[in-house]
Amino acid sequence: MTPEKQAAPAGAATLPLPPMKWDAWGDPALARELSADIRGLLAAALGVTGDAAPGPAAAEVVLRPCALTPDDLAALAAVVGEAHLGTSDADRLPRAGGKSTPDLLRRRSRDPQDAPDAVVLPGGEEEIAALLALCAERRIAVVPFGGGTSVVGGLEPLRGEFAAVVSLDLRRLDGLLGLDPTSGEAVLGAGLTGPAAEALLAEHGLELGHYPQSFRYATVGGFAATRSSGQNSAGHGRFDEMVRGLRVVTPAGVLDLGRGPASAAGPDLRALFLGSEGTLGVITAVRVRVHPLPAARAHEAWSFPDFATGAQALRAVEQQGTGPTVIRLSDEAETMVNLAMTERIGGEPAAGGCLAVTVFEGTADQVAARHRLTRDALLAAGATSLGEAPALAWEHGRFDAPYLRDALLDAGALCETLETATDWRRLPGLRSAVTAALTAALPGALVLCHISHVYPTGASLYFTVVGALGEDPLERWAAAKRAAGDAIAAAGATITHHHAVGTDHRPWMAEEIGEVGVRVLRAVKAELDPAGILNPGKLIP
Ligand SMILES: Cc1cc2nc3c(=O)[nH]c(=O)nc-3n(C[C@H](O)[C@H](O)[C@H](O)COP(=O)(O)OP(=O)(O)OC[C@H]3O[C@@H](n4cnc5c(N)ncnc54)[C@H](O)[C@@H]3O)c2cc1C
Repeated sequence: MTPEKQAAPAGAATLPLPPMKWDAWGDPALARELSADIRGLLAAALGVTGDAAPGPAAAEVVLRPCALTPDDLAALAAVVGEAHLGTSDADRLPRAGGKSTPDLLRRRSRDPQDAPDAVVLPGGEEEIAALLALCAERRIAVVPFGGGTSVVGGLEPLRGEFAAVVSLDLRRLDGLLGLDPTSGEAVLGAGLTGPAAEALLAEHGLELGHYPQSFRYATVGGFAATRSSGQNSAGHGRFDEMVRGLRVVTPAGVLDLGRGPASAAGPDLRALFLGSEGTLGVITAVRVRVHPLPAARAHEAWSFPDFATGAQALRAVEQQGTGPTVIRLSDEAETMVNLAMTERIGGEPAAGGCLAVTVFEGTADQVAARHRLTRDALLAAGATSLGEAPALAWEHGRFDAPYLRDALLDAGALCETLETATDWRRLPGLRSAVTAALTAALPGALVLCHISHVYPTGASLYFTVVGALGEDPLERWAAAKRAAGDAIAAAGATITHHHAVGTDHRPWMAEEIGEVGVRVLRAVKAELDPAGILNPGKLIP
């Protein structure tokens, strides 16, 4: 990469920008500052003293020059129109990656940064098909861009064997394309963000009910492409369970998949595209099941003496099918840190132990019945009720934690997360193994864990690591991530329950799906994307 900037692509943005800050999470107006108490805690517990060196302002970032020729740019503009092609640094920089901690650390670098060579905003399937044909012919890589919230390197501007890469931003595919209240189905444009989709459905008294922590910015197409899982998964399932149908534009043609409420017409091809992470095609529309907006809701938080008791209680609830919409359990360390960070999380603070949160939704009768059954099961399994306040407080702040990560980075602390899942039997061993791997790789760091999603047969574990940034935080985290990934693979757990694969989990894919599985994915890719332009270097080993 040369540090010199080309004159041509620099300058002001010509396209609408992604709604998030280019070098941090979310809305700058919601940025958080750490209190003196929390800074004191970071210094005492982790040796974090002194702020991190500030990163460059957007205008100071030196971007890799645009490698597209004037002829390429004219051809792209001929498909989407001049108004929907961006080549300025200000257009390219916000699409240069996702929002993992390594992404944010790279944005803070004063070294030259990588970015897509151009950004295109197609208006529909015909333009997407034409763009894919053009890029295959001109040998340009394509990175589909939804909300830009990937945390696994899914938006890295990788070129593979090609000279250039374009970011294909799907924000213009933002319509409610169909609604069938009788069947409880809606067709959503892939570029709709979570709030935009819910607002359109709410006009009809309906809800999708998919609330990942990235809800405010992630898109319907991104949810499908990454097999996302939301915080209400106990009640409404993962996103892939909500999907009834998909439309996908591939270089080989368009697929319209999913008929009827269920089918035995051979293997379910929708499953090929759910989790395909933009490597096989561009998802343009998703038909999802929807349900009436809940008429009633109830909240209750719980304390368990230890994580093992809490995990057994969650298993009992899930295996009995007592029906909470949300159920999650923090381990001792996460409970303690949450209390310290928020001082009081509302109501009576839990004194140590492990905090669990439950939320119930439905009609008033359903909520009452589900609440009572779950309550009985949790109390029988050793829970103490903390009332509704801590659960309401969790819900109130549930999309705000990523702002805290930015504040921690500013204060010189490394904060990153990873997740996995396994069956209930192996869950305790998995938690110990991953915690040990992270602690050994990052001595002195805090490793926190919670059960984020439950199933009758198992659960997912979500780890948060907070430590000192150190001299080379990217390498420090890469080493910790390798250690954790190896521990997950050795324990027979999945390398990712909902964050997807991207570049970061690709090294473990062959181990997870086997050599024949890799050949199947490569064969499908060769059929649908013979030139290999779609997201090279991601997902498929
Ligand atoms: C703070 C934070 C919290 C998060 N919390 C959760 C969580 O609770 N649950 C969860 O599941 N995930 C979570 N994530 C991860 C991320 O938000 C999800 O993976 C999300 O589904 C990505 O959607 P997106 O629209 O932002 O996609 P992007 O990040 O833009 O893209 C993700 C990948 O999908 C591809 N892609 C995007 N759109 C399309 C399309 N239409 N067709 C084909 N390929 C496409 C991209 O090329 C990329 O490889 C979180 C991320 C952050 C930063």
